[in-house]
Amino acid sequence: MATSRPRPYPVEEEPEFRADRAPPAAAPRGALAAGKASHLITATVAFFCVRFVSLPMCGHLTRALEAMWPAALRPYLDPAQDDTAVLMGCSALSAYLVVAVGLCSLLDCHPEAHRYKTQGHRSIFTWDQWTRAVAVGLSNILLFSWFATIPAWQLQRRGGGSGAWDTPLSLPNELACFAVHVVTIDVWFYVTHRALHLPLLYKWIHKFHHAFKAPAAIACVYANPIEFCVGNVGGVVLGPALTRCHPYAAAYWLAFALTSTSLAHSGYRAFGAEEHDTHHEHFSWNFGVGILMDRALGTCLPEGLRARGGEKIMKRS
Ligand SMILES: [Zn+2]
Ligand SMILES: [Zn+2]
Repeated sequence: MATSRPRPYPVEEEPEFRADRAPPAAAPRGALAAGKASHLITATVAFFCVRFVSLPMCGHLTRALEAMWPAALRPYLDPAQDDTAVLMGCSALSAYLVVAVGLCSLLDCHPEAHRYKTQGHRSIFTWDQWTRAVAVGLSNILLFSWFATIPAWQLQRRGGGSGAWDTPLSLPNELACFAVHVVTIDVWFYVTHRALHLPLLYKWIHKFHHAFKAPAAIACVYANPIEFCVGNVGGVVLGPALTRCHPYAAAYWLAFALTSTSLAHSGYRAFGAEEHDTHHEHFSWNFGVGILMDRALGTCLPEGLRARGGEKIMKRS
């Protein structure tokens, strides 16, 4: 293990959003605070986002899209016909608004909550940073995501993704599809993310996302649009395009993915943020979504080393 701090990027290029460097307060103990229930929390929150926000909102979003959708795009995605695609988009938007903009931002406003953050009160942000992150996030979701979702929808529609509403939901089948979606995003995100850490791509594209060195949930989609479409949305929508799962399952997957990335950027251990938080802090570790790829390729920061080694373990040997 090397003992010096890596300097892949000059110090002056380090994130502008860095707050104070005071050490975080002692972390609360307990299974919940340590993130043991983070997957269950993510799955439950995603379900509520689909059931109580996305499904009721979907009709309004369809009518809004119908009114402004360019005629040139209708052969590829027509909001009036392709209700599955609209519901998928609506679920992603709902999860970002509910989890990142709503729940986590409210939590972040409470100083006591910072005790539960991986980087303590470093993960604070100003009103300016919050509005900037939300503006970029909503622009990415509402405007740029179509560059990835329309091609993926073409693939999904050709496999019958638009006409499966009458098919009964089969739990074993949908669970198998979900597993494929998870593996797909794990591989896709890891490969694209590691590529984005090549010096040139980092400088031109990915550095923007790393502006938050101690991230907050609103920064989960604070990314260059190229990174957002290729690295983030591409890997999420590829799963349903390949499995052609039930529309409700596809909508749930989109809500799950956005909930998961929001919570991974939230900074809260209880929500499973520690691994990706480490990546934002130390750059050279934890490139994936925490399933298989980092462990398989040796880029997963070993548990406990971070707390023990501090600056000394930032560089992989
Ligand atoms: Zn990130
Ligand atoms: Zn990165």
